[in-house]
Amino acid sequence: MKTQPSLLETVSKFNTEEMCVRHFEKIRWPKGLRCVRCDSDKARRMTGEAAKRFLYWCPDCRYQYTVTVGTIFHDSKIPLIKWFLAIYMICSERKESLRFN
Ligand SMILES: [Zn+2]
Repeated sequence: MKTQPSLLETVSKFNTEEMCVRHFEKIRWPKGLRCVRCDSDKARRMTGEAAKRFLYWCPDCRYQYTVTVGTIFHDSKIPLIKWFLAIYMICSERKESLRFN
């Protein structure tokens, strides 16, 4: 059985929204970015202002999407960084407070 990483390891690995998005990307598309609508392998990360919202774009079907589209995290106003911590705490033996604010 895999041992659970410490809270410190988890926090240092996922300490920005971008780090969480990139990790989720690797889980979702382990062989490289794919379009969630047409499955094209030409999908890519958007640049400029859209990059700040971590948007992806497919040149084949012109669809724009985020890494969470079609997942339980879609439409959540809670950033992934908070979800990751919450999931860590739920999975942790130590039941620490789930308050973030
Ligand atoms: Zn597409």
